[in-house]
Amino acid sequence: MFEYAPAPESRAIVNFQKSYGHFIGGKFTKPANTFQTISPATEEVLAEISEGSAKDVDQAVKAARSAYEKTWSKISGSERGKYLYRIARIIQERSRELAVAETLNNGKPIKETRDVDLPLVASWFFYYAGWADKLDYAGLGPNPKAHGVAAQIIPWNFPLMMLAWKIAPALAAGNTVVLKPAETTSLTALLFAEICQQAELPEGVVNIVTGHGATGAALVGHPDVNKVAFTGSTDVGRLIAKQVAGTNKKVTLELGGKAANIVFDDAPLDQAIEGIINGIFFNQGHVCCAGSRLLVQESIQDELLKKLKKRMETLRLGDPLDKNTDIGAINSKAQLDKISKLVKQGQKEGGEVWAPNCPIPKNGFWYAPTIITGVSPTNTVAREEIFGPVLSVMTFRTPAEAVAKANNTPFGLSAGIWTEKGSRILKLADQLNAGVIWANTFNQFDPTSPFGGFKESGYGREGGRHGLLAYLKAGN
Ligand code: ADP
Repeated sequence: MFEYAPAPESRAIVNFQKSYGHFIGGKFTKPANTFQTISPATEEVLAEISEGSAKDVDQAVKAARSAYEKTWSKISGSERGKYLYRIARIIQERSRELAVAETLNNGKPIKETRDVDLPLVASWFFYYAGWADKLDYAGLGPNPKAHGVAAQIIPWNFPLMMLAWKIAPALAAGNTVVLKPAETTSLTALLFAEICQQAELPEGVVNIVTGHGATGAALVGHPDVNKVAFTGSTDVGRLIAKQVAGTNKKVTLELGGKAANIVFDDAPLDQAIEGIINGIFFNQGHVCCAGSRLLVQESIQDELLKKLKKRMETLRLGDPLDKNTDIGAINSKAQLDKISKLVKQGQKEGGEVWAPNCPIPKNGFWYAPTIITGVSPTNTVAREEIFGPVLSVMTFRTPAEAVAKANNTPFGLSAGIWTEKGSRILKLADQLNAGVIWANTFNQFDPTSPFGGFKESGYGREGGRHGLLAYLKAGN
């Protein structure tokens, strides 16, 4: 095997402030009630950020309401589009800085932030910038209207990408927003606030309030919010659904997943191995649509597992800023504990756990890429979302059994099919209860394509024309 020399990306391009307040009405507030935000790869403190109180949330919602009434709902769609194009271009200009910042605060490899996250973030703003003056063609008839103030709560796995998925369509449709980033990964959202200033976005159109779950709950519960958009765990999604029940607030929820990645005996095996690796080890498996259940046709199980293990032995775990790194740090100690607990449970229930022998750094939070074989559909690791680099392996004999097992889950976000036969892909795709189905590929994202789930994976769609509809209502 080749030895790789270290190839660290310089972090000199990023300049975090020592402490951050919230971004309200176009300005940063004075930092207050601060807590530390760290690099999960080294546990080094990167900056201090503020815990948003109900009062901060109220000020942010007021700023968003005032911006909605005074400016954002008054200007034309093409004017809004100009701001979005401007933001998209600044993101491209600052993409190296943003990629390094994201890698520092999240722990994901620079290879991914640089080549996946940031290009997608820019493309989301470009795409919705194009929609801003074409809302008449969104499918709601002429003159569709914005809802008003959107409250948006995002998780830590794709901090900037989730911000883009939320803010770009909301602004294009004419809403103003208050966004709460996740407590462990707020720094790139705060850099985005600087970008809003740089783009001279009218003040109050985008507001960012940092903090933990209570800040999010205050935002969801604020009486002057018209629309709630949430991405995160199914448990918190349930709380939010309860909180808004009986109000006039519109809601979209993008929650957990336990996707089946189905490999048939006629699949191009080497290609499928890459798809399995990408499906579960991309972003340390911190992906709601991760292919976390491998369903492999029984006749090729041995050969596939042999190849998969061999490929896993070449994965490089370590410094996320190193351009050769495949697997970065787990985002938090809490998440690491959750992953370890679930894998132990899987072992207790009869699963056989295997991981390559890769050295684990001393500081920070790490989990080696892992597979669990001999899993049955009733086992915890086949049912619960692990949200880590852990693949549960099951087998099937017939296509009907593959479909039954794939659909035997409370979730329904995504699925993958690997086979040479186009007719089989189409037939299976029809039978799988999942919002997104990839064929002979996995984890592909595009701003034009709607994304979202069934059952406990949530409701509503993000991306494409469908994603725009969540932020619009029919005009009169
Ligand atoms: P994960 O398991 O991905 O960390 P969470 O659902 O816990 O997902 O967190 C996703 C986002 O939801 C974070 O920004 C978090 O602060 C926020 N959050 C947590 N609890 C609540 C709540 N009760 N109401 C609103 N937002 C919340």
